[in-house]
Amino acid sequence: MNAMYDVLRTIFGYDEFRGHQHDIVSHLIQGQDAFVLMPTGAGKSLCYQIPSLVRKGVGVVISPLIALMQDQVDALLQLGVKAGLLNSTLSANEVNKIENRVLQGDIDILYISPERLLMPRCLDLLTHTEIALFAIDEAHCVSQWGHDFRPEYMQLSILKSQFPHIPCIALTATADEPTRRDIISQLGLANAKQFVSSFDRPNIQYCVVEKNNPREQLHHFLTTEYPQEAGIVYCLSRKKVEETATWLQEKGWDALPYHAGLSNQLRLKHQQHFIREEASIIVATIAFGMGIDKSNVRFVAHLDLPKSLENYYQETGRAGRDGMPAKAWLSYGLSDLITLQQMLSNSQADEKHKRIERRKLEAVLGFCETTLCRREVLLNYFGETYQGPCGYCDNCLQPVTTWDGKIAAQMALSCIYRTGQRFGVKHLIDVLIGKVTPQVERFKHQHVSTFGIGKDYTAQQWSSIYRQLVAANLITIDISGFGSLRLTEKSLPILRGEQTIALRKETPKTKKTKNKREKGNASTPTDKLWAALKAKRLALAKDQGVPPYVIFHDSTLAEMHAKKPKTLDEFAEISGVGESKLQRYGREFIELICQQQAELNFA
Ligand code: ADP
Ligand code: ZN
Repeated sequence: MNAMYDVLRTIFGYDEFRGHQHDIVSHLIQGQDAFVLMPTGAGKSLCYQIPSLVRKGVGVVISPLIALMQDQVDALLQLGVKAGLLNSTLSANEVNKIENRVLQGDIDILYISPERLLMPRCLDLLTHTEIALFAIDEAHCVSQWGHDFRPEYMQLSILKSQFPHIPCIALTATADEPTRRDIISQLGLANAKQFVSSFDRPNIQYCVVEKNNPREQLHHFLTTEYPQEAGIVYCLSRKKVEETATWLQEKGWDALPYHAGLSNQLRLKHQQHFIREEASIIVATIAFGMGIDKSNVRFVAHLDLPKSLENYYQETGRAGRDGMPAKAWLSYGLSDLITLQQMLSNSQADEKHKRIERRKLEAVLGFCETTLCRREVLLNYFGETYQGPCGYCDNCLQPVTTWDGKIAAQMALSCIYRTGQRFGVKHLIDVLIGKVTPQVERFKHQHVSTFGIGKDYTAQQWSSIYRQLVAANLITIDISGFGSLRLTEKSLPILRGEQTIALRKETPKTKKTKNKREKGNASTPTDKLWAALKAKRLALAKDQGVPPYVIFHDSTLAEMHAKKPKTLDEFAEISGVGESKLQRYGREFIELICQQQAELNFA
């Protein structure tokens, strides 16, 4: 018992275990099997790293993410842990070296790719080695249901059959019921105790803005909230990724594109840049993300509507792995609906799949249009009973007011009817606000009864009204033509005045929403000391060829920034500072903090 706390404090520099960590760690130390479902950023690695260090022998970690292994090993080396890896990136010579160290008991945690593990040579090595435990990371890769299926993972049951007495832990962040069953049966873990955590990511703030001028909105968001931080911007198409990255570069941001159309080499280069640099932005299609372990991604911005809440949750989940406040920002407008509906109808999928896709899309719309707590909507969608309000999402911080949209809806619908259900939203709005455009003249729409009846609202307000009517299924978009709007059966009761409709009042999201209720740590500071701490971390990282967050997590830097330790004892108190990092970096950071303080006093 004491041993596990000892390791937690002296090696990792943390005071307490979080969530299920304590129970999982002691369960494994006692030699039992475990299945762990924890959301990203909740701290899965400690669950096997600490038992590996407490138990005798080497902890063997199987991970499919070869690109990540080196970073994981580097992070452990920084902590003074004897860690190593075996995968296809090593030369024969390097493999020999590691194998010898394993045999001599000189490695405490060993990362192995599944391909390598299954080689007779590797299994042979393991039978001659004392093993503390097996950890199977990203365990959902065994399941053919998921999108990350790895055939080699299906053979990992060999571990339980060849090493029945070694404790085994399978971990994942994404597993619905069928996948969970698959993992347990495929890996032979029927006796494993299950530790299932809530899917909630309490440090992520969800925020949806009405799409207006999306690039400018993004630029404004970055400038006001994250001028010096790293993040991911998702777009639907490769073309838009390229254009957005170029545009951001022109605006002075360190932004790079990432999509399946780029060469492997270029993709790797951009990914590396993103991981190693501080304030870098990656603009990507959904191809980007799996295997991104960068812990200090401070924001994930969606310029296009994701196709499902599953996608949305996975993508936004890449923010704030370090537990520090992070933001999921989505800009959403009528144009997104049109594009996605078009994609749906052009898709080659059969009717059944199309229906599923449509329902998923509707859930995304529901999330965007909701006046309730967004966290509640999300978690309920994933089958969790979460009692909001969270007090942290945009809707909680700035409650949405609704207005009686009956008359406006009638105008909007009858304008569609009067112009023959053949026109797109732009033209309909021109007619409503009484704008004489060439198209209005061509079709003589200045003479229809709805011409100019909507002058009390701006074009933008009409756009929002139409969007909400589409989201409420009162209007459909005819995507075979030019996105013309059509009435549905549901629009009749409104037109006849038998039914009212509450519309949300769009208010510009102001920055004051930011820190009303902080989760855990304070949000990242932006002053000179912060910049200096980050610069120091970056320089140290560059010297050693490791990502900055391997030196210290943002949360650790933020605590230094807040507490300004002046002695090694004070420095050791900072969460994330264990003995190894205290020795390596304590003095340098203390000096930097004192120097900054002196400058401040002098100024
Ligand atoms: P996951 O693999 O579940 O996404 P990680 O293992 O990478 O999460 O941990 C996420 C972050 O939380 C890391 O920065 C890690 O150092 C930190 N962390 C984990 N456990 C604790 C703890 N008990 N106290 C403080 N920080 C922790
Ligand atoms: Zn909320």
